[in-house]
Amino acid sequence: MVYREKSSDVNRKKKKNNQLNVLTKTDRSDGSDDCNLFTDLPRFPPRVERNAKGAAGLAAASRLVEKGFDPARITILEAENRIGGRIFTVQHGSSLIEIGAQWVHGKEGNVVHPLAEAAGEIRTDIHTLESTGYADDVEMVYRDGRKITADQLKEFKEILQRIYADSRRELAQWKTSLGEYFEYKFGKHLDQGSFTTMDRATALDLLDWAHRAQNIEDGSDNWMETCGVGSLEYHECVGDYTTVWKRGYSALFDILMKNVPKRNNGLQLPLSDRIRLNSPVNLVRWNPDRPNCKVEVVCSDQTYNADMVLITCSLGVLKDRADKLFTPLLPEKKRKAIEGIGFGTVDKIFLEFCKPWWNQQWGGVNFLTQHSKATGDWVEKVMGFSTVRGQPNLLIGWISGPAARICETRPEDEVMRKCSELLRNAVGSDFVYEEPTRMIRSLWHSNPNFCGSYSYRSRKSKDLDVWASDLAEPISDSHGLIRLLFAGEATHDHCYSNVHAAVETGWREADRIFEMVNNSPAPSKL
Ligand SMILES: Cc1cc2nc3c(=O)[nH]c(=O)nc-3n(C[C@H](O)[C@H](O)[C@H](O)COP(=O)(O)OP(=O)(O)OC[C@H]3O[C@@H](n4cnc5c(N)ncnc54)[C@H](O)[C@@H]3O)c2cc1C
Repeated sequence: MVYREKSSDVNRKKKKNNQLNVLTKTDRSDGSDDCNLFTDLPRFPPRVERNAKGAAGLAAASRLVEKGFDPARITILEAENRIGGRIFTVQHGSSLIEIGAQWVHGKEGNVVHPLAEAAGEIRTDIHTLESTGYADDVEMVYRDGRKITADQLKEFKEILQRIYADSRRELAQWKTSLGEYFEYKFGKHLDQGSFTTMDRATALDLLDWAHRAQNIEDGSDNWMETCGVGSLEYHECVGDYTTVWKRGYSALFDILMKNVPKRNNGLQLPLSDRIRLNSPVNLVRWNPDRPNCKVEVVCSDQTYNADMVLITCSLGVLKDRADKLFTPLLPEKKRKAIEGIGFGTVDKIFLEFCKPWWNQQWGGVNFLTQHSKATGDWVEKVMGFSTVRGQPNLLIGWISGPAARICETRPEDEVMRKCSELLRNAVGSDFVYEEPTRMIRSLWHSNPNFCGSYSYRSRKSKDLDVWASDLAEPISDSHGLIRLLFAGEATHDHCYSNVHAAVETGWREADRIFEMVNNSPAPSKL
């Protein structure tokens, strides 16, 4: 017995399991074990932990098992050779780097924060905004080395802050994009003479930086595509926005799977052996009009028959190939939601140096491109580079949008050389700059299992009147039985783009499944 529980609890769970009739007697095409529920799971790399674990998918599976659902009835199909999805903690030297999610964004209302806190996984020694490019010790420099002074930067940040504060009230009436709002407000400040420390051209170059930074925050290609009023749907969780994990974000999977025996009295959810790595789903096929028909989940080497399927792949994957993944096609409203809700590209570029050429006071550099000298090269869109706690020889850079997608296609030596040039020109007068020896970068767009980074509220979603709830809407057969369910960050009404959204939506769908199964008639009555 896995659970340490009172016999009355066991009986209660057994009774509940007996009610799971609608999920019994399923089969795989090879005639072996029963398996019923298929999800895609985000996971973390084996190098950090040995046991296979996996955000939305694993949250759903672990919730079901915790509620007494038989794990043997769950099969988790993962296309990658690792668990974690867009959580991807990698051991680097004696510490870690995060290729994907890195921060717990806020505390109040963030379901991940209490999990991490209770498990003692939160780092308290890292100050807010470190490694974000917004910290006070990060300077702002033109590509030719000219610096924005501390007074100029202070003024710019204050005005930007005022615009952000106004936006919370004013965007509700704003008809167009977030970008148009910011440019309008910024223009007013320029016209009113709010900028006393710089000329108009410098202020506009700083606005261009703010645009790049906002795209990274939102996950959008261009803030002209981000819906102004739609962006109010996003709810920030109050508290430190950049809380960091001691063992990296992938520790979340240990917590969800209760693989922390000392802290959980030995309780461990038996899910590891339900995960099939390297198992990309090529097709989900079913007949909504046939009573009791199974949903076929077709992978390259095997077809699984399920009573219901929980789909947790990224919105990027659905945008790329939902029409090929589902037979019959998904309902029109769902397809419009997939088309309309935004999903952009945000990438990280880590540069490694033999030793730090910077000093302890230096937190990083943000790059400005003089508008009149812009060439359109992808490298002009790199937001900046900043230091990485625990990695004394590393700097982390950020890039988003079409430039990130182009960057992903460029050879490593070109990316490293161009980023190094940027850095050398920006800091060469202050430090004895040394060339990087290695680069580690994310390729979130070109990886077919993600096709981008995270979702945002686009103007198109408003034009098409499609929202996260449309993406989340389950699909039933003609008898009203739910067969296809949807979870993942993009299906969250208010916290989309975050890990805590993914976890909440996994729990949401697990609860839906559990309730449905417990309230369903036995198959014979169907
Ligand atoms: C660069 C970057 C930085 C980020 N920073 C933060 C941060 O600091 N804080 C934060 O809260 N969030 C952050 N995020 C967002 C966060 O990582 C995601 O919102 C969250 O991890 C999404 O989880 P998910 O379960 O919805 O989807 P995913 O993690 O994408 O999981 C879906 C899984 O489905 C698998 N899959 C896809 N297609 C198939 C198929 N056909 N068959 C089988 N399996 C398939 C994928 O391999 C993947 O494992 C960041 C993301 C990126 C890319």
